[in-house]
Amino acid sequence: MSNSSTLIEESVHIDCEILFSEIYHVAPTIKVQSPGRINLIGEHIDYYGGYVMPAAIDRYIVICLGPADQSDSKVYSGTFDEQIIIPANGTIDPGNHHWKKYIIKVLEILLESGYKSRPFNVALTSTIPVGAGLSSSAALLCGFVSALAEYNGWLISLEKIALIAQTTEHRLGTPCGLMDQYASLMGKKDSFLLIDFDGLKIKEIKVDLKEYVLRLINTKVHHELTDGGYARRRREGESALESLKSFYSKSGSYREFSIDELNAMPPFDQTEFKRARHAISEHQRVIQFAEAVAQGDFLFAGELMYATHESLKHDYAVSCEEADFIVEEAVKSGVAGARIMGGGFGGCVLCLMDYSVEAAFKEVLVPAYEKKFGLTPEFIDVNLGERVVTSLA
Ligand code: ADP
Ligand code: MG
Repeated sequence: MSNSSTLIEESVHIDCEILFSEIYHVAPTIKVQSPGRINLIGEHIDYYGGYVMPAAIDRYIVICLGPADQSDSKVYSGTFDEQIIIPANGTIDPGNHHWKKYIIKVLEILLESGYKSRPFNVALTSTIPVGAGLSSSAALLCGFVSALAEYNGWLISLEKIALIAQTTEHRLGTPCGLMDQYASLMGKKDSFLLIDFDGLKIKEIKVDLKEYVLRLINTKVHHELTDGGYARRRREGESALESLKSFYSKSGSYREFSIDELNAMPPFDQTEFKRARHAISEHQRVIQFAEAVAQGDFLFAGELMYATHESLKHDYAVSCEEADFIVEEAVKSGVAGARIMGGGFGGCVLCLMDYSVEAAFKEVLVPAYEKKFGLTPEFIDVNLGERVVTSLA
């Protein structure tokens, strides 16, 4: 871990404890460090029952919690400099404040599942950029539920916390899979997680990156995923899978099919065909990537990341001009691998590179990107991280 990221990590903790004390005039009793995540490979296939390979990173939402001496509960976000007051009884209108909807909705789902919290006070701070594809929303929801579980002594599994967080996202219009929640809750500092979404099996892949580093480049373009684009692709992919299953009289997920079988199908909707080609080929790339990482072959791992980008661009159609430009420049600068990461339509490009390449790459990319898009791309160091729940009392 680099020194700068250690400092960031420490300061977000201290900031949160100070913020809590300033607002509530008492020290918190519970602190949760809830990580954001990157996804090395396996994009847009978790919800088809595929393999994905995310990792928790050292960018966190830190949540400090303490008992409330009033019957209402309060949550204060240092990021938005706003507080929400949750009355003990009755409903509240979150207005147009998106983050407040997350809090209200997840509390509603907890209640439905039989988890009613004692009144609490919360303050949170964050070093996860919002809407950049690092899953700040999963970190928020999983961290908040983790803090409440610790506070109330709920016996609630990590799998259940993940499901509650996922249901919250669904009810707010994002039909996401479970990858982000699993990565945030179960990621470890020295590993990538190979998650098999067919039966939800998780394997930790120990990683030694040697002279390689992971960097995120924020395109600074943000697109909300609630515009229907994400849900539409999923419907198209599911429809193509149904066509494959009925043509070959097979059951199961995309992993049961090869590209050859897809190509041998009678012609069908071209858009659906492309969605299927992404799902099948991406599944194979994840398996190859896991082997490459285990063997320390980061050049091949990088090639697979470039292949994923092409697939996301042409077949799944979730890239954008800005991300494509960064990936093209990465190839020219000798970066081992680069791809748009997360839901798509903006956010970050994930790069894997020999550390000696970074300075020259940055020198070329930043002015070229500024000239073309009028925006400065932000390089973000990422190291692996993990969730920590601490009792301070
Ligand atoms: P991401 O890729 O970061 O998960 P989303 O659009 O899914 O992007 O989620 C971002 C939303 O999560 C924000 O608009 C906000 O509602 C909530 N959120 C993220 N970080 C914070 C924070 N520090 N405080 C309050 N809410 C947050
Ligand atoms: Mg999100």
